[in-house]
Amino acid sequence: MSIKGYYPGSFDPITKGHLDIITRSASLVDHLIIGVGAHHGKSGLLDPAVRVELIKSEIADLALSGKDTIDVETFDTLTVDAARKAGASVLIRGLRDGRDFEYEQQMAGMNAKMAPGIETIFLAASPETSIIASSLVKQIAVMKGDISEFVTPRVADAIAQQLAGK
Ligand code: ADP
Repeated sequence: MSIKGYYPGSFDPITKGHLDIITRSASLVDHLIIGVGAHHGKSGLLDPAVRVELIKSEIADLALSGKDTIDVETFDTLTVDAARKAGASVLIRGLRDGRDFEYEQQMAGMNAKMAPGIETIFLAASPETSIIASSLVKQIAVMKGDISEFVTPRVADAIAQQLAGK
């Protein structure tokens, strides 16, 4: 049986924490689809299309076999609908701490009611990257702080360009 996994998120921007989850989940499923939420009225720092391109470039640089089984797309629907449309039976989420757990557990429960055929699996964040959050990366970047511990140089450049253009 071929298992397709759907890893949804904002990825605004993709961090080393997301890359850790992508690397680890890619070996758990046969096909991984990364869904970048691009919901109307929810504006982020980076354009969703830019986020997708950054994720694709980061994946290309990962020391990972079977990269051709990873796809990246945007979605503007319910996560379960996007996963279903992609043919995925598994939703992948990362857990950093108790706050993530409380939110994610409730979300997983509601998603299970809406889409009983789709199972959510949680991957515990790795210790080295569990402190990283996109929202804080953005705040630090806006204040001209150093974000190189948290994102790759490519992502840091993209954020600097975006902030310079604003
Ligand atoms: P969302 O808006 O859906 O929370 P994010 O891009 O912030 O989007 O996160 C997407 C997923 O990645 C979530 O499951 C989140 O818990 C997980 N995640 C975010 N940062 C990390 C990290 N540093 N380590 C592990 N998982 C993470």
